[in-house]
Amino acid sequence: MAHDQRPSGCPFHESRPAEQALQESEARTRAILETAVDAIITIDEHGIIDSVNPAAVRLFGYTTEEVVGRNVKMLMPSPYREEHDEYLSNYVTTGRKKIIGIGREVVGLRKDGSTFPMHLAVSELWLGPRRMFTGITRDITPLRSAMQRLQDSEARNRAILETAVDAIITIDEHGTIESVNPSAERLFGYPSADMVGRNVKMLMPSPYREEHDGYLHNYVTTGRKKIIGIGREVVGLRKDGTTFPMDLAVSEVRLEGRRLFTGIVRDVSERKAAEERLHYYAQELQERNAELLRSNQELDDFAYIASHDLKEPLRGIHNYATFLLEDYAARLDEEGRGKLHTLTYLTQRMDAFIDSLLEFSRVGRLDLAIQETDLDRVLADVVDSLRIGLDERGVEVRIPRPLPTIRCDRVRVGEIFRNLVTNAMKYNDKPEKWVEVGFDDGGGPVVLYVRDNGIGIREKHQDAIFRIFKRLHARDKYGGGTGAGLTIVKKIVERHGGRIWVESTPDVGTTFRFTLAPDR
Ligand code: ADP
Repeated sequence: MAHDQRPSGCPFHESRPAEQALQESEARTRAILETAVDAIITIDEHGIIDSVNPAAVRLFGYTTEEVVGRNVKMLMPSPYREEHDEYLSNYVTTGRKKIIGIGREVVGLRKDGSTFPMHLAVSELWLGPRRMFTGITRDITPLRSAMQRLQDSEARNRAILETAVDAIITIDEHGTIESVNPSAERLFGYPSADMVGRNVKMLMPSPYREEHDGYLHNYVTTGRKKIIGIGREVVGLRKDGTTFPMDLAVSEVRLEGRRLFTGIVRDVSERKAAEERLHYYAQELQERNAELLRSNQELDDFAYIASHDLKEPLRGIHNYATFLLEDYAARLDEEGRGKLHTLTYLTQRMDAFIDSLLEFSRVGRLDLAIQETDLDRVLADVVDSLRIGLDERGVEVRIPRPLPTIRCDRVRVGEIFRNLVTNAMKYNDKPEKWVEVGFDDGGGPVVLYVRDNGIGIREKHQDAIFRIFKRLHARDKYGGGTGAGLTIVKKIVERHGGRIWVESTPDVGTTFRFTLAPDR
């Protein structure tokens, strides 16, 4: 009782009557009840409600008048409602407590029929001879839903961990493994129980294993990061002793004041192996290429030297044949003279072949002089130089639009045009002959073309024409060539990094197309 505990000798209270003190104490209790956040309900030992505070009125939706004097069961849904009487009388007769002084979660029923989870703490008190019970209850719906959300998110996180393809390992700041997911078990070959509680070093081969403690300690004390938040490639050690390259990403987590590290590990053996294979092939390719270039160069050198050396004895043969024809013609009969003529003709042919070979090897040996080149000018010069032949054969040259300016070797590209236009002019037996030179520029490098309405080339010969000395016709029919022209053209095109190809229909005409830069 408040007045029993009041300090003795207090000048303000001493003279106060006991009645007044009691009133004050009651007022205080009422104030507490009125302002309490929790609902407070007092019942007697039959369950009849004696009083409710405003929080209880708010919580259950009844007015004070609607509940006082009625059984507290009205605030409970079935089956609690039915159990309550029995429960109360049980307690009153046997003294066995089920709620009193304990507190537990039960279900409340509002006036509008809705129910809600509530926490209930009951205490027993005696008011003189009357035994009363006070229930303090609180709606725990918000708490419940917060817990539910927490549980859901925990379940979600667990599901992610369980199903993650990557191995996920959590360690504390001493390196002790706290948890591993199934992928980690599969990757390292240990069951979870053999990893949890042990130092994560067990999953690393030397020298990483030895470095790890120092590294972790360093980070924890200095905050200097080496892996955290960065991710890098390290080496993992399986239970069976084998090692494998792995990508490791570590992040730091603070959990209830503790500092944890989560490592996400991915086995990159396959990727590494593929990378190594790729690297090997790239190197192989590079070596082969270098070899090819070398042997190409050697071949060009060889052709050049051989042609050079061949020319001198050939000149001797030619000179002697001419000498015989001039000074010994009278001593030979008709047949002998005929054979000598053939001999000089053949030496001239041989000379022309050797010149072609020299030219071919020169194209391979000399560096290109790449510069901005107005192809229109180059073509105009070529057409000028071929003017007599074109006019003689009655070939019309068509240039639908001026050719562009591009970077290339001006002189060599002139040779390309000369060869292609000459062929277009030669290999044509139509009464009205024409050759058209133009270009297409759709995206990639400019594609130039030389088209004619000539005899065409059968499909089965379309590859062969680019081989050196390959000719499809008897030498006299369309004028004598050595069959090296297209081979040289192809070599010039390829030295520019370009391509050349042919489209042709026999008796209709032929189109040669080429580029002077690599395809993008
Ligand atoms: P050449 O003209 O000296 O014989 P090329 O290498 O220039 O040598 O040509 C090889 C062969 O390809 C020619 O002999 C000819 O049979 C064929 N050819 C080249 N251009 C054409 C063309 N525009 N139309 C038809 N055939 C052609």
